[in-house]
Amino acid sequence: MKNGRKYSTLKLIWRACLQYTKTSKTWGMLEQSIAIADALSLTFIIIATQILFDVITQASEGAFNFWQVATPLGMLAILTIIEQILSGAEGFLFGEVSYKNMGQYMEEFQLKLSRLPAKEFENTDFLDRVNRAKGFIEYEDLGHFTFVCFRMFTYYMVFFVSIGAYLFWLSPMLPLIILIAFIPSILGQMMQVKIFEKLEEENAPVRRQNDYYQKTIIDREYFKETRLLGSFHFFYRLFSETLLMVTQKTYQAERKAFMFRILLNIASFIGLTASVFMLFNAILEGDISVGAFAAVFASLTQLFSIMDEIVSRHLSGGSEQLGQLRNYYHLMDMEEVGGENGVPDFTKGIVANGVSFTYPGRDEPAIKEMMLRIKNQETIAIVGENGAGKSTLVRLLMGIYLPDDGEVRIGDLDSKKTHPRVLFGSISGVFQCYQRYKMTLAENVAISDTTTPPNIENISKSLSASEFNEDVATLDTMLSPEFDGIDLSGGQWQRLAIARGFYRTNNFIVLDEPTSAIDPIEEERVYNHFKRLSKNKCAIIVTHRLGSAKLADRIIVMENGKITDIGTHKELIDRKGKYADMWKSQMAWYDNRM
Ligand code: ATP
Repeated sequence: MKNGRKYSTLKLIWRACLQYTKTSKTWGMLEQSIAIADALSLTFIIIATQILFDVITQASEGAFNFWQVATPLGMLAILTIIEQILSGAEGFLFGEVSYKNMGQYMEEFQLKLSRLPAKEFENTDFLDRVNRAKGFIEYEDLGHFTFVCFRMFTYYMVFFVSIGAYLFWLSPMLPLIILIAFIPSILGQMMQVKIFEKLEEENAPVRRQNDYYQKTIIDREYFKETRLLGSFHFFYRLFSETLLMVTQKTYQAERKAFMFRILLNIASFIGLTASVFMLFNAILEGDISVGAFAAVFASLTQLFSIMDEIVSRHLSGGSEQLGQLRNYYHLMDMEEVGGENGVPDFTKGIVANGVSFTYPGRDEPAIKEMMLRIKNQETIAIVGENGAGKSTLVRLLMGIYLPDDGEVRIGDLDSKKTHPRVLFGSISGVFQCYQRYKMTLAENVAISDTTTPPNIENISKSLSASEFNEDVATLDTMLSPEFDGIDLSGGQWQRLAIARGFYRTNNFIVLDEPTSAIDPIEEERVYNHFKRLSKNKCAIIVTHRLGSAKLADRIIVMENGKITDIGTHKELIDRKGKYADMWKSQMAWYDNRM
């Protein structure tokens, strides 16, 4: 995923402004109006300074009148107080608006992710981008950036136009020279944008590795194995190496940027000296008054400090942030899963018609030109060696992944053309990697159907159908030591995940091998319940234990992304193919242990 030309810097800035106005609404507009007033008050202060100095000069020449001096002095004091109040109010509103904006941007981002195709989440490049964008929003960088972009057109523009007009009135060449003095600085910042964008591209994958190695050292899920294997130092070395790579690359980029900055700042300094020299000449030749010289001199300091604020603070921070902003908009513009409404008709079963699917970053398809029809009220078992494509196939048949070629029809609806909401509303699935929610037992079950209030009777029924031992926990037991609750064993968690699958109202249910930690006798009981509960539905069991596959109406044997055999248990045994070999070897394994 490379950034397209449509994300040019100017378009990014313009889009950030629009986003700011859309999100911050009334408070944001109030803040920006105060900023405009603040910018004008700064210019008035400079004009008031000139008047005051001119009056003082006249007074020192003998024409002293107390009120002539006191009036501009009072004006200057009042303007200074007003400016302080405005800038305070602006600071206060900035905090308010920026925090609210951050919440809203995060919400929009999360909603966007929920609408993206599941296949994207198998793509490491995409996951990198998501992580970067998340950090960019979380630390208020996005909110701050959109604010600054908008401020360019309010506070900064009003200040430069008003002060520019004043300087032009004094000497038409003056604003031009000051502007030229700042061009090198702006160029320098543009170069920095390039340097930091390149750095971000290079560092992101290494940073992801570094985060992962850090997890292997300190996270709860890893630490037992890391200790047992004695692999702490191994991972620590990988962690240190990747960290070093990130810091070295960052250092090199910073050094390069620093050199540019120094050179270009020297050029700016020369420009500033030229402006002062011009002013000096103008006063000697009597073109401007002493008051004007003093005011412009003061305004130069103000002007350069504001320009420096823009360049060093906003543009240099913005150099890195533009890259982040580009990445954020790239994600926000990604095509969403969509599709029409409809009502699946499960009497038409589930059909795969020449379906192929390749994971991002892989050359070999995981599923190849698959043809399959699951009839109404039929239970299918899928068996095959590791990596044969069983899980990928069920995700395609459930509409979680969309085929690259061919079509999947779920209850006669094409998964590519139907909105996932329509399809998922009738499907229940339990996967190998199910979630262990840090919630109560009842909540852990009822989470699979949040469209209606939890039904205690159904929760209990689902738990007993999955053979969950209710002596272990009651419905309101919190299942998380972190929240003063208890933890379950692997097998208990699996039964709970199966109960979750049973609880969800569905016409099509899939168990993708969620029983590896359940002993074979209890597993058979779970599958018997499953068979009973899925009597009037389409159902799929993915399993390595052929004793459980026997329960299905038909068994599919998969090898290397294709179906190599299909039939009832008896038919497959009689055909003496791959399934018969697998069956024999599993039987022999049990016999040898008896
Ligand atoms: P198992 O019995 O081990 O669960 P399976 O039959 O369910 O395996 P799949 O998980 O469907 O097999 O995997 C099929 C192929 O797709 C394998 O070659 C696997 O390496 C590849 N694969 C699976 N998930 C991904 C992924 N996220 N990215 C890239 N390749 C993947």
